[in-house]
Amino acid sequence: MSELINYNFDEPSHYPGSNHFKVRGWITSEKCVNQVTFGSRPATLHDRPDVSSVFPDANYVTGFIGIGAMADLIGNELIGNCETLDSKVEIRVRLNPNKMFELSKFEKFEKFEKFEKTFKNEDPRKLFDIATQLELDTDEVKQAKQRAEKLLKISSVLACPECSSAFDSIELTVEEVVCRECGKVFPRKGRKFDFLSEQLRTKFNITETDNISTRGHDPLALALIGKYKDGLILDCGAGFPFVEYNNVVNYEIVDYPTTDVLGVGETLPFKDACFDAAFSFSVLEHVKDPFLCAKEISRVLKPGGTLYCSTPFLQPLHAYPHHYYNMTSMGLQNLFAQDVEILESGVPISGEPLFTLNWIISSWASDLDLETKERFLDLSLRDLATNAHELIEKDFVTTLSTAQKNVLACTTMILGRRKN
Ligand SMILES: [Zn+2]
Repeated sequence: MSELINYNFDEPSHYPGSNHFKVRGWITSEKCVNQVTFGSRPATLHDRPDVSSVFPDANYVTGFIGIGAMADLIGNELIGNCETLDSKVEIRVRLNPNKMFELSKFEKFEKFEKFEKTFKNEDPRKLFDIATQLELDTDEVKQAKQRAEKLLKISSVLACPECSSAFDSIELTVEEVVCRECGKVFPRKGRKFDFLSEQLRTKFNITETDNISTRGHDPLALALIGKYKDGLILDCGAGFPFVEYNNVVNYEIVDYPTTDVLGVGETLPFKDACFDAAFSFSVLEHVKDPFLCAKEISRVLKPGGTLYCSTPFLQPLHAYPHHYYNMTSMGLQNLFAQDVEILESGVPISGEPLFTLNWIISSWASDLDLETKERFLDLSLRDLATNAHELIEKDFVTTLSTAQKNVLACTTMILGRRKN
């Protein structure tokens, strides 16, 4: 069954110079859009009030931000899928042949491939010359040069996550980074530094995930990025940021195209007191030992350096792929209390209680069959606020799946037996 959807791609509008690139756009549809995917990667859906204002008669308006890959291209068209409750519609965009691929530009792509290989293997200080020789576009050369400078900056603050000793001048030309103290070898993964050893993965329960955590930076984060433009900021659990900054180290357990350093939060592979600021946005709930992670973040901050951290309090379970601890404002302050003077605490706009209600109700509704869902969504807030015990036998309560109850539970429990 197909239905009418309209869509538009705002990005990509030009060749982004990577095997992966950001895809951004909007959809208007008769039915609610559940998911937009490129390849097997789900895009993040969000509101587009600008589009809604242009299409006031559209039933639904959905913005999407995802990751496109070379592999999703057929000819010069990027293929994606838009799923509503009962249909799946292909969405495709013909990439601007003047700015983007067409067959004649594949030559350029090969050049870029060659350049990327070179980037991995050569001293980044030479890369600008190489890029110039290959006659790559100015933007790409500029981007590569900035990237090389960023890598050099990052390499100067790295320390062994096994024995904490600083690496003295890492040659960026090498395939591996070897600790001179303990002899531990860490591979380079493409252009990234990879400190996510099997031992660390096991110890801190890190598993592979296809989830993509995209994000923008809020005004306070942007102000700090501006303030420390000549310094270095750690974004601990950076996700896949919309914009890359040369002074922000994207630290992740997931190998996104923007990731600079791979590793766990509980053991940061950085020297003591080397960052002017540290960010951690909606990350600590996914960390197995948030106390240890907070301690590590404090350790790598310079004295007087700025911490900007947010964590969820009343949010449903959202495993990426693990979700351990939500926390109150007091809990968050307590995590850092020993090493960080708390200057301000509060609720960011993205943390308004309205979003708590919205998330819980929409997540609850998504688990119900169509008719039950309608009955559930027709409840008044007054019913919910005053008559909870009378509603406990209703089908929208009793047919909720066990998995979904776990996602939205007021309380969870365990029963255990002490190990011998
Ligand atoms: Zn070491």
